[in-house]
Amino acid sequence: MHDHRRLGRELEIFDTDPLIGAGLPYWRPAGAAIRHALEEYVRELERRAGYQHVYSPVLAKRELYDISGHWAHYRDGMYPPMEVGGEQVVLRPSLCPHHALIYRSRGRSYRELPLRMAELGAMHRSELSGVLGGLTRVRSIQLNDAHIFCTPDQVADEAAAALGLIRRAYRALGIEPVRYRLSLADPSGPHVGSREAWDLAAAILAEVLARSGIDFEAEPGEAAFYGPKIDVQVADSAERETTLSTVQVDFYQPERFGLQYIGPDGGRHRPVMVHHSVIGSAERAVAHLIDVHGGAFPGWLAPVQLAVLPISGDELAPAEAFMRQAVEQRIRADLVGPEHGSLGARIRSSRLVPCLGIIGSAEAAAGQVALRLRDGRKLPALAAGEALARVANEISAYYRD
Ligand SMILES: [Zn+2]
Repeated sequence: MHDHRRLGRELEIFDTDPLIGAGLPYWRPAGAAIRHALEEYVRELERRAGYQHVYSPVLAKRELYDISGHWAHYRDGMYPPMEVGGEQVVLRPSLCPHHALIYRSRGRSYRELPLRMAELGAMHRSELSGVLGGLTRVRSIQLNDAHIFCTPDQVADEAAAALGLIRRAYRALGIEPVRYRLSLADPSGPHVGSREAWDLAAAILAEVLARSGIDFEAEPGEAAFYGPKIDVQVADSAERETTLSTVQVDFYQPERFGLQYIGPDGGRHRPVMVHHSVIGSAERAVAHLIDVHGGAFPGWLAPVQLAVLPISGDELAPAEAFMRQAVEQRIRADLVGPEHGSLGARIRSSRLVPCLGIIGSAEAAAGQVALRLRDGRKLPALAAGEALARVANEISAYYRD
């Protein structure tokens, strides 16, 4: 069993410092490399699916969350307001309100819809210190978030496409959902907006799941305060279940923000918001990846993708040149020289690295590299350029999907 907290520290992915505070981990270089690769992958996946990326600030006036409903319904999860120049500003608890304002910043026509907006941005949650630990419950969260502003007719297709993106990303990440949950309102509890809107949103999501051939369990009481959602549940090796990705249908915030578009009839209409997150937060996604892969990440995510091992000090110069050539080709490569021990010891300590490039005197003389792959395959010595092409092929497998 892997504990992502222990393994995360051992592999130097992240750590914490009491002076920064509980629930506020920092990312070491290996963790930052994984996070960059993950963010780049998600951005590219979204770009190809027609999303436009934006950036928005981590703070806003409290008033914004009065409008969105967060201040009334989600205040326990928010930090107290800060007084600045006679105004109250708060750390944001979600990205939706900022995106709604970007949508509202100018007039919109039905021709622009569906308008797909995405951001990898920070949000904050005031977790109690007792539940903090590692990367799964944190107070500062890097969220992979997207909002689709669309016509009522487009909601089901957009939600289904968002679910498709999630499933595709999971294949690339080598992770498997344990179940899909349709999270509904608490039937006895209060809820915002009309009952009809909630029922319609839930019916659309149920239809999307059915149409995608996905079995799911409906669970009352697990919805967001503004609407029902599909939760993609994953489990760690101790079988603790968490929500990683979500798709939500929201009629409430468009109403609160007075969002509009001009329809083909020339009249003003209300768009619907589909919220979704492909991988959830960087923190939770990486915690889960550490756990399921035990540190042997898929090649495209590995913090070091190629370790170059000169057999002796005599091959240091060609090994260094090969490593630099790899770095130029955007491969995350590292030189592990003889000062780190015998070749056998270095091969063992690099066992999580997808590709090893070994250079002995014969390879050095011929301008070649002997590749050894993480699954045990040993390739015959190849010219340096061919070896790099082979490495690139090993670590970019996700683009084929
Ligand atoms: Zn949202």
